[in-house]
Amino acid sequence: MRSEGAGSLASLRELNRRRLVDELRRLGLASRAELARRTGLSRSTVSSLVTDLQSDGLVVEREIDGAGPQGGRPPVLLSLERSAGAALGLDFGKRHIRVIVTDLAHAVLADLERPIDTEHAAAEGLEAAAELVDQALIEANVERGHVIGAGMGLPGPIDSQTGEVGSSAILPGWIGVRPQQAMQELLAIPVRVENDANLGALAELTWGAGQATEDFFYVKLASGIGGGVVVNGQLYRGAGGIAGEIGHSLVDERGPVCRCGNRGCLESVASTRAIVDLLRPAHGDDLTIEQVIAHAHAGDLASRRVIGDAARALGVVLAHVCNIMNPAKVVVGGDLGAAGAVLLDPLRDQVARHAVPPAAGRVEIVPGVLGRRAEVLGAAALVLRDVEGFALAPAGNAGNRKIV
Ligand SMILES: [Zn+2]
Repeated sequence: MRSEGAGSLASLRELNRRRLVDELRRLGLASRAELARRTGLSRSTVSSLVTDLQSDGLVVEREIDGAGPQGGRPPVLLSLERSAGAALGLDFGKRHIRVIVTDLAHAVLADLERPIDTEHAAAEGLEAAAELVDQALIEANVERGHVIGAGMGLPGPIDSQTGEVGSSAILPGWIGVRPQQAMQELLAIPVRVENDANLGALAELTWGAGQATEDFFYVKLASGIGGGVVVNGQLYRGAGGIAGEIGHSLVDERGPVCRCGNRGCLESVASTRAIVDLLRPAHGDDLTIEQVIAHAHAGDLASRRVIGDAARALGVVLAHVCNIMNPAKVVVGGDLGAAGAVLLDPLRDQVARHAVPPAAGRVEIVPGVLGRRAEVLGAAALVLRDVEGFALAPAGNAGNRKIV
């Protein structure tokens, strides 16, 4: 009987140790107090488990500059040790492929980008990405066996039943391809695919404007418009992975025809493509959204007006989002996110006008902080945060130490 009791105590300790490692992997850096709060374990249990993990070489203390939130000495923060594993993020854009390598403390070890032809075939894109992964692993000094998984971002919808790229994808050469399966075979690493807006939300949650925010909505304003929903500190995908797709919400029944086949979708009036198209007659056919933003900041009335109109259309849709999910923040990312007050002021006015006052009063509308890195960081965050989907490397890969 005594040995049985001792056995269950040991397995409880193993379980708690695993919870602590999982939580550290999600957070990257955390104090003992925060780990206790998040796992529900007592501070003394956390301290004793951390001591064990430190002596096993799995957890290290990190020196952080600056004072703590209440002034005084900064708290000692913990993270998983470099040898515990690494994560890969891959981002396929219309004109580029980007790869990053991070450790499980959420530090970026390598970040490489290469241009690619817009009309590339899927096989070509996948092979170019695999080569870039090889280079990035060398630069990061990480062995392939240490990588616990790869997240992959595509700028289009993935059918959650078949795993295929849908027909309305922005990448025409990828239609009918199963990117997750194909990439996994090429890399020999577990791969998970996610759309770009959801990855932006995950990146802002992990490194950016959504840090320490349990409930927020991320909107990506680029040549398409997408959204990502974070609820209780987790990405919420909905029944079929479509949650947050505000780009095709109706804003003008008689508006322009949208690529989805409908009329007057938000995307057809407020995407960067729609904005640039409206201004080309005045500014020339080579106009880019970066130039539109620069013109607006320099006081060009037409550019300010067109961005303001896009913000007002977006604000009506975001007011509905605020009524439905009551987020603490709306984080505005994508190319247009860099426009600043010329976009955000009319957006805030519109949300204040159309959302119910308790929801409008609660929400902070802020720019995303990760810019063009948001998607590739989000792809790595997919691996870092999904402790069930991507197991830590077996003990053999981290010397003879026991991971959990
Ligand atoms: Zn549409």
